[in-house]
Amino acid sequence: MKVETIDHGFSGLAHVIASYLVPTEVGPVLIEAGPASSYANLVAAIRALGYAPEDVRHLFVTHIHLDHAGGAWRFAESGATIYVHPRGAPHLADPTKLLASAARIYGEQMENLWGEVRPIAAERIKVLDDGQDVHLGRTRVRAISTPGHASHHHVYVIDGLLFAGDIAGIRIGRGPVLPPTPPPDIDLEAWRASLQRVRELAPDALYLTHFGRADDVRDHLDRLESKLDAWASWTLGALRAGKDDEKLVADFVRYWQEELRACGLDEERIREYELADPPWMNLQGLVRYWRKHHPEAFNLSST
Ligand SMILES: [Zn+2]
Repeated sequence: MKVETIDHGFSGLAHVIASYLVPTEVGPVLIEAGPASSYANLVAAIRALGYAPEDVRHLFVTHIHLDHAGGAWRFAESGATIYVHPRGAPHLADPTKLLASAARIYGEQMENLWGEVRPIAAERIKVLDDGQDVHLGRTRVRAISTPGHASHHHVYVIDGLLFAGDIAGIRIGRGPVLPPTPPPDIDLEAWRASLQRVRELAPDALYLTHFGRADDVRDHLDRLESKLDAWASWTLGALRAGKDDEKLVADFVRYWQEELRACGLDEERIREYELADPPWMNLQGLVRYWRKHHPEAFNLSST
């Protein structure tokens, strides 16, 4: 099976956000819409592959975060069916809460970063349950519920290839594998269980939304899990030390930068990682995880 990797050129940088196009007997199938802000780049890439955007009748989003599904409404308006996790579907139909939650994270950068997001008509949305198959000609797409990064996360398996969304982390080029841990629903126990499920599926390759194909599946997942554990312990340690939130963020960003530099990354690659997986956001998500799921783990009056 041929998979086309489309680079959104998000914020003018390569290797930050991908969509994947799989040619089938019922036309090109798209995995991940990417954000609305880079829709024009996506369309240009679809045309360069010999298709029109309205040829896309089937779009699978791994989850509803704006870097994955923000541009889905454009395809719905040209008649595509948008496939999504049951917990994500209501937010595609009415993105009000999703946008309010994103605005709390991104503030004034919202519109600039993500572009316009419109509701998707209910008849264009198709909810997929865990393990459910979609048959498109001879191509079978299987949805696997994989919470942890978000409660509304699916991966999709086509012909032994696993389209991983954010559950298998972020790796740009030959850089390190990092976990994206934004607020509000990081759940480390669920995430570890999802990684175990991905291991058991034993896919031939992972297709990461951030960014590209990874063939060393086992090693990749192990490296992600150990980084997830390391960041979670760092955060717990800092919370136990009673650091205030501002100091926590500043210290984590420094720790994060030192880790990336220690991997030998140049400043441009670090900038790509920063856009795909902002460290200040990761810290906020991990703090929220500890406070929400394990208030007993440290002596803080929970906020
Ligand atoms: Zn993402």
